[in-house]
Amino acid sequence: MNESDSELVRSLLKQQGFVFTEDRERADVLLVNTCAIRENAHNKIYAHLSELKAVKKQRPLVVGVLGCMAQNLKTDLADKEPIVDVLAGPDSYRQLPSLLTTALEAQEQGLAQKRFALDLSEYETYEGILPDRDSGVNAWITVMRGCDNFCSFCVVPYTRGRERSRDPESILDEARDAAARGFKQITLLGQNVNSYRYGEWDFARLITAVADVSEIERVRFTSPHPKDFPPALIEAIATHPRVCKHIHLPLQSGSDRILELMGRTYTGAEYLALVDRIRRAIPDIVLTTDIICGFCSESDDDFQATFRLVEQAQLDSAYIFKYSERKNTIAARKYADDIPDQVKGQRVSKLVEIQRAITAERNRRYIGKTLPVLIEGDATRSPTQGMGKTDGNITVVWDKSTGHPGPGAMVTKHIFDASAATLYGE
Ligand code: SAM
Ligand code: SF4
Repeated sequence: MNESDSELVRSLLKQQGFVFTEDRERADVLLVNTCAIRENAHNKIYAHLSELKAVKKQRPLVVGVLGCMAQNLKTDLADKEPIVDVLAGPDSYRQLPSLLTTALEAQEQGLAQKRFALDLSEYETYEGILPDRDSGVNAWITVMRGCDNFCSFCVVPYTRGRERSRDPESILDEARDAAARGFKQITLLGQNVNSYRYGEWDFARLITAVADVSEIERVRFTSPHPKDFPPALIEAIATHPRVCKHIHLPLQSGSDRILELMGRTYTGAEYLALVDRIRRAIPDIVLTTDIICGFCSESDDDFQATFRLVEQAQLDSAYIFKYSERKNTIAARKYADDIPDQVKGQRVSKLVEIQRAITAERNRRYIGKTLPVLIEGDATRSPTQGMGKTDGNITVVWDKSTGHPGPGAMVTKHIFDASAATLYGE
């Protein structure tokens, strides 16, 4: 979502005559787009800002903090970090060109005054702003913003405001534009992407219409909530050849007591029933998830319920996090963050270990198969190896000498080996 928002910000600033450089030494303005979802996201930004202090000592520089951390910490951040000149939250980017212009003028006059734009909007969808996209194979398209779910652990409703969906016609225009510019894959984005609704349009109708745009090879989406999977959406994923057979289905916990405290609106059994429904309709689906360990009052029994559910569900992979208390959330106000960090860590390790074994085993089912792969570029480990993704979003690497027409090409790879992270093809 932040990559997508950064593309939006770049477009807004370029329209007003700002010029971007990859060379930090040449920049008059440095913008840091931030995440607030866990404390370690904050810590990365504090480390980055302290590095920028040295840069700012050497020459005039306007430093701007954008995104969820700016929105959530507001004056805290401004007070703690004197080098920050501008703060802009996710709904305030239209004000950024003027904020930066006045900050640059003030700096020339030797005035040090902070500038804030932190209003949350019920309507802002950045309609009419075509993102200045990073080059590559994938184009992000934000289809809805904000979230109304207020899961008790989550800061998103406070930093990104109320849920609002974009006009489908403008989404389709953007999809056609991305296709015309040579992007092969579109990923539809939203904090709660499958609760998309605009008049008569729901998410099933939207994803089908986007996938109907010719020249697009693949359409993905993230992140959906398990509560919004009507039969029509499962049917759309099952039947449209260009909608990828991958669903990221955040679980969070396998304990019904904890799920209730989290405000997730489903039980472990209901989650498993949904997994079952999806698998019956789409047998080759790849299912991935998010899990939080050590949420307030999570007992050993609660954790065991999560462990058992992970064993039972046999999902293809999982992101597993330690619970991180977020300022302003329901959990921060109502429940004690009472699980010691060490216990959170042990629980994460146990889940990572079992999920890794499940993932490795599930990946082995591809050995001996020939799969369509969309090439993304070189493998991170070696420039002599190519890298791409299966329809289910699993990474495949291969020796380039076995065939590598380059990024954006759809090829078929015969899979001869598999690990928990990678399929090996030729
Ligand atoms: N909207 C998605 C959903 O309903 O599940 C989740 C989006 S959230 C931005 C991404 C993931 O971050 C969540 O699925 C959750 O596992 C994790 N997360 C959110 N708040 C967290 C917190 N306070 N501590 C640890 N992990 C958290
Ligand atoms: Fe956060 Fe997702 Fe819950 Fe919204 S649905 S509050 S984004 S975890």
